[in-house]
Amino acid sequence: MRSPTLRILPERCDGKMHCLRICPTQAIRIRGGKAVILEDRCVECGRCLQVCPHQAVVPQTEVFADLERLAYRVAVPAPSLFAQFPREYSPEEILQALSRIGFHEAVDTTQACEWVSWALREFLREYRGPKPLISSFCPVVVRLIQIRYPSLIDQLIPLKGPEEVAVEALRSKQGADSKRPRDFSAIYLTPCPARVPRPDEGGGENPVLAGAVSIRDLYNPLLTFLNHQPDAYRWPMPAMGRGLQWARRGGTGTALQGELWINASGINEVILVLEDIESGKLRDTDYVELWSCRGGCISGPLVVENFYLAYHKLMLLEQRKMQAPPLNMEQLRKWYQQGRFTVEHRPRAVAPPGTETDLAEAIARRRAREQAQSLFPMINCGLCGAPDCQTLADDVARGQAAVEYCVFHDRGHLQELKDIYRLPGRPEER
Ligand code: SF4
Ligand code: SF4
Repeated sequence: MRSPTLRILPERCDGKMHCLRICPTQAIRIRGGKAVILEDRCVECGRCLQVCPHQAVVPQTEVFADLERLAYRVAVPAPSLFAQFPREYSPEEILQALSRIGFHEAVDTTQACEWVSWALREFLREYRGPKPLISSFCPVVVRLIQIRYPSLIDQLIPLKGPEEVAVEALRSKQGADSKRPRDFSAIYLTPCPARVPRPDEGGGENPVLAGAVSIRDLYNPLLTFLNHQPDAYRWPMPAMGRGLQWARRGGTGTALQGELWINASGINEVILVLEDIESGKLRDTDYVELWSCRGGCISGPLVVENFYLAYHKLMLLEQRKMQAPPLNMEQLRKWYQQGRFTVEHRPRAVAPPGTETDLAEAIARRRAREQAQSLFPMINCGLCGAPDCQTLADDVARGQAAVEYCVFHDRGHLQELKDIYRLPGRPEER
């Protein structure tokens, strides 16, 4: 069982269905007036976290203050971090500020983004399998494919994300005179809960990333430092280059030349594109870049700035004269040939519990679902605790709910709901 990256705090949840209504994979139910997440259906998009007015949905990121327990902390910022601050603060200053608020060092992940864009181009050139290839850099998209579109798993690009490549490059550069200990802790500064590293998913005892802190948690300490404690830089830092574009949709393909590729963002748009890929409508396309969040990671669930202001900041940064050091092509080719960009484990299909394993079972389940569905009014009121009548019928067919959850079939359930939501009866009923 995977460890969850989101949790719902029952003491904060009022059960009023904001999350139930928005979840794109029908992974939430209301039980006893409280929302619960069905882990096996959740793709970790974080939309429930974004809509909850009571902050009852919490990511399982590290608490920033707790990082002090780690002896040597290296910050690994997602490129979207740099679009969060007022325009006067450059990425270089933000990186420097990280070293003042509790990190010993910060790596320039945007450089690794450029390396991975280059590796992507190489991979597309060599690839001869079914098309299109699908980007694997948004973990929500990967999880969605694992659960709902397993036939597309082999089309996922088998390249590591820039954060992993950046940390591995840092480890390999470790010189004898380096102050950095070999067992430093790399902490990802994340725009989304889906990127929280899991001890139960790869990495074994020595995961590349030791943990993740949400950009939202870091924002105030960083801004306070930037506003009030201007200081000389502690170490020389090269200006950032085109890798910053990874913070928005379209950013991964900056190195592509001549390939036919498209991008899409927003979980509902992603679902539409995956349906089209599955039905063969995009088979002439070389590459499809997909992001769960609208516009890319700059609108991740754990960022601070609104999408338009963050996008504006990113455009300003992209217009700067890009001064990043040129790519070391010889080294990149060597790394590529050594397989340093390639993932060690490809994702596998994930079948939610209760998935039919043979045809007879599938037919029986379908009959049970249709039978249950015929009993429900199909008005999708949500009072049963499922997002819609069809999902309740599916739950009934899987043995995970009863027909009586529907208030039209059990008036007692309606009374229970009145008590839970503290609805006063009409005067004549009191
Ligand atoms: S993270 Fe996304 S998929 Fe998971 S429960 Fe929340 S809205 Fe649903
Ligand atoms: S688009 Fe980016 S921020 Fe959003 S879920 Fe995917 S990786 Fe996370």
